[in-house]
Amino acid sequence: MLRTIFDEDHEAFRDSCRTFVDRQLRPNQEKHIANHEFGRELWLELGKQDLLGLNVPAEYGGAGVEDSRFAMVLAEELSKFAFAYSSCVGIHADCVAPYLVDLCTEEQKRRWLPKFCTGELITAIAMTEPSGGSDLANLKTTAVRQGDDWILNGSKTFITNGYSADLVVVAARTSPEKRARGITLFGVETGMPGFERGRKLDKIGQPESDTAELFFADVRVPSANVIGDIDQGFIYMMERLVTERVGAAVSNLAHARQILDETIVYAKERQAFGQPIGSFQVNKHTLAELVTRCEVTQAFIDACIMQQLNGTLSTVDAAKAKWWTAEVQNSVLDACVQLWGGYGYMNEYRVARAWADARVTRIWAGSNEIMKELIGRDLGL
Ligand SMILES: Cc1cc2nc3c(=O)[nH]c(=O)nc-3n(C[C@H](O)[C@H](O)[C@H](O)COP(=O)(O)OP(=O)(O)OC[C@H]3O[C@@H](n4cnc5c(N)ncnc54)[C@H](O)[C@@H]3O)c2cc1C
Repeated sequence: MLRTIFDEDHEAFRDSCRTFVDRQLRPNQEKHIANHEFGRELWLELGKQDLLGLNVPAEYGGAGVEDSRFAMVLAEELSKFAFAYSSCVGIHADCVAPYLVDLCTEEQKRRWLPKFCTGELITAIAMTEPSGGSDLANLKTTAVRQGDDWILNGSKTFITNGYSADLVVVAARTSPEKRARGITLFGVETGMPGFERGRKLDKIGQPESDTAELFFADVRVPSANVIGDIDQGFIYMMERLVTERVGAAVSNLAHARQILDETIVYAKERQAFGQPIGSFQVNKHTLAELVTRCEVTQAFIDACIMQQLNGTLSTVDAAKAKWWTAEVQNSVLDACVQLWGGYGYMNEYRVARAWADARVTRIWAGSNEIMKELIGRDLGL
């Protein structure tokens, strides 16, 4: 079904994203996989193409684009190539950017945003801790005031861009007695004494991305690095999770659709018993179901993109988009692996990597169970 939410400017931008993928990602992917990170070089290239600060105002070095559909086009094209690229760029450009743009002081914006846009300053956001990620309000990392500074202690885990980030937005407890209303956000920078990283974590998918543990031992963070107001961090995070979840949903679906398209081509070519495997009714019906599921889902996601653009998307609808697309993506890719037979299990085939890359999407950005909790609560249950 024809999508109607993009105009010719979005499509021209899509072409330039594809060119970027072909020139900068495709030739270097194996190197990124071996290193478990993109490396600064790629971040600087992304910056040169104005892909990191799309929604950052021009006065701070960004592209100053107010139309969030351009970021969605970028997310689609990156995830169609390999999911890790949309994860890492998405965390920096879509998830962290709103914290810096909306909540930072003028001095912080001038200090961080220009380099954020050029790729000289890679960012991450650290909420999840070894003791748990779903129950965010119960986080244990503490920040205690000492004069004009804050002393940070604790640890975070599974942090995307965590190994390479120069600036990490860290959620820490500042008022122990207040649970959700006692959390503050801090900008923790590389080189602050006591801030250490663990190794790059060994994941089952998305090997191009770096994911790390972070440790804070008496890290002295100046008040100038507090992001937003004291004790308001939880509210800030909840407000911005809508953007993160729509971005996740857009990437989930684009990824599934790309691999499905490639699988349809394969099902027409691959022969068994003297005929294309796609012509067996069982496979034909499977593919028909998968295409239908993706297209129907696309209609909901496109509606979410438009509602996000005009500021009416609810947290609950973003939660629906996130869990549903994660489920659709996983079921589509699992069926695609089956259709590729033994090749589908080989890492040198995209379908195998895509299947492994996709698994985490049911777990992160708020697990699917937590999404259903939010939806259930909205039903008054
Ligand atoms: C590759 C990767 C990258 C990530 N990147 C980041 C990042 O950049 N920043 C960041 O802060 N975090 C990041 N995360 C963390 C991610 O958001 C958490 O893993 C996720 O929120 C779940 O938290 P947890 O792993 O502690 O699981 P837990 O919270 O321990 O949950 C375990 C299981 O119990 C279920 N569960 C928990 N509570 C309920 C409930 N009330 N009802 C029903 N079931 C429940 C969960 O759904 C899950 O299935 C990343 C994770 C991965 C794997």
